[in-house]
Amino acid sequence: MIRCDVCDNGERVSATRSRIAERDGRTAVVLGVPVEECPACGLTWLTMDVAKQLDVLFDQLLASGAELAQAHWDAPRAA
Ligand SMILES: [Zn+2]
Repeated sequence: MIRCDVCDNGERVSATRSRIAERDGRTAVVLGVPVEECPACGLTWLTMDVAKQLDVLFDQLLASGAELAQAHWDAPRAA
């Protein structure tokens, strides 16, 4: 377990949360993203690996042209 270095009051736990990105008036939402969360202050962290994959996914969603694009982290997708 990793102690929260922000509030120093809790230990980070695994959780799933939705993440949102906005660009050029478009919004992309990814549901069920694995994160680490501090139960004390509510801050969340992404691992490097998840952050990289999320960037790619957001790029794909925002490039789709839809005003609001949504995907689930666990949904099948191109790597
Ligand atoms: Zn904290």
